[in-house]
Amino acid sequence: MSRIVHLNGDWLPEAEAKVSVFDRGFLMADGVYEVTSVLGGKLIDFEGHCRRLDRSLRELGMGNPHSDAEWLALHREIVARNGVEDGMVYLQVTRGNPGDRDFAYPPEGTPQTVVLFTQSKPGLADSPAAKTGWRVISIPDQRWARRDIKTVQLLYPSMAKMAAKAAGVDDAWFVEDGTVTEGTSNNAYIVAGGKIVTRQLGHDILHGITRAAVLRLAREAQMEVVERAFTLDEAKAADEAFITSASAFVMPVVEIDGTALGTGKPGPVAQRLREIYIEEMRKAAV
Ligand code: PMP
Repeated sequence: MSRIVHLNGDWLPEAEAKVSVFDRGFLMADGVYEVTSVLGGKLIDFEGHCRRLDRSLRELGMGNPHSDAEWLALHREIVARNGVEDGMVYLQVTRGNPGDRDFAYPPEGTPQTVVLFTQSKPGLADSPAAKTGWRVISIPDQRWARRDIKTVQLLYPSMAKMAAKAAGVDDAWFVEDGTVTEGTSNNAYIVAGGKIVTRQLGHDILHGITRAAVLRLAREAQMEVVERAFTLDEAKAADEAFITSASAFVMPVVEIDGTALGTGKPGPVAQRLREIYIEEMRKAAV
């Protein structure tokens, strides 16, 4: 199946969408991205993704090529053109093509490169993995120090994902100074003593859009949330654990480095939050 993708204002069959070899996204990983889930043909938590895109661009001294209303129109059009029911919209903005390779940023006014494409994932919200939970390994966090900016430099997370694959598990949790930062492409949580614990926001983790929604919904459901760093040992001794991301929603974690958590099955808090999150986000989808 050939998709229709968006490139700098044009709608093209995917094989015809071409970006310059001098594009700074290609040469320098000088670009940012967002991934918005689609359920029932509608966008999940779109406003949150727009806010974070704007922040990532600003932190890197890049302008935002579109208004929120234009981004929304582009997202809706790409979903419609590709007939996506369940899946995601990937969007990327790079600092564009200066015409040569140079560490210095190109002159002001150099057009940015804007790409959007879709990935269709029928039954995205009914993932069988949510019923059994993920098993994870821990791995040293060797990423750069501005993980709050959603850049396309994803080599180390890819290496971590390959390490997880080699270990026969689903994902890896990054550990820095003994504490868990986050997963390869998700935020990490434990449940201990009846409290949901997740790392506080800072430069060392991505400010997950799903994290913000899930913490809000948890508090609304009278669950106690503590935002602080937790150690790997604490995680292994926790009653349950889970991760959140725009594409996995809330996913229970049942094992860390071979240690089963609680009963070794998805825990009640993770399962309840997954249900609440999907239900509320479907209601609010645009
Ligand atoms: N942390 C990292 C490192 C990620 O790549 C992601 C997914 N983009 C997340 C957290 C979760 O963010 P979100 O809920 O916005 O998908």
